[in-house]
Amino acid sequence: MPTSLVHAVRAACAEALALLLPVSCAGCDEPDISLCERCVLALVPVPRQQVVRAAGGALTVWSGLTFEGVAARVLRAIKEEGRTGLARALTPALEAALAHAGIGGDVVLVPLPTSRAAFRRRGFRVPDLLVRRAGRPPTRLLRHARRTGDQRGLGREARRSNVDGSLVARPGVARGARVVLVDDVVTTGATLAEAARALRAAGADVLGAVTVAATPRNFPTQGERRPDTFETHR
Ligand SMILES: [Zn+2]
Repeated sequence: MPTSLVHAVRAACAEALALLLPVSCAGCDEPDISLCERCVLALVPVPRQQVVRAAGGALTVWSGLTFEGVAARVLRAIKEEGRTGLARALTPALEAALAHAGIGGDVVLVPLPTSRAAFRRRGFRVPDLLVRRAGRPPTRLLRHARRTGDQRGLGREARRSNVDGSLVARPGVARGARVVLVDDVVTTGATLAEAARALRAAGADVLGAVTVAATPRNFPTQGERRPDTFETHR
């Protein structure tokens, strides 16, 4: 069977099983519901922006939610437990980030690429899934040029050098395109900055980036509290 078909079958089985097996709320573990009303309310977007340093000019990143509590748990359920049906609950956050950025329907949404290992493990690409659930087509213009180490546990500058030169864009398609980068979570913005660099090098006009959530440490008003969970595996 071709790999894509294997993944499609696996995803379909996972969704079918989810209907048969007992579920609990991804946000609070309440039984027999995939996301309770209280947790849906916790996902009401509070858009915010930050600016990260990138080659070719600063990159503004808009995020719909803070990566903590229910938002972090729902993202983890999607990524680590394959509960892809929950992605729709994050659509308002992505839409809010796009709206907050004043980004219309005429721009190309470019998801950050997923590593081969992560794709093999999950059978789907998280940023692409989020874009699709928001009713927009993801345009995959980026790919990995080399492997990178795990970003977790690295400081801001170490993250930058870890991902520096790690992405390339499809030159013919990227040239002249007005693009917005999409990812699930932004931490320091190092990977988004690298994506912007690669796309700009290929001639694209990078308008900014949107993510479903941003880790709280990027927002000094919320103190130095760390997110209560994992950080992105690529
Ligand atoms: Zn709940």
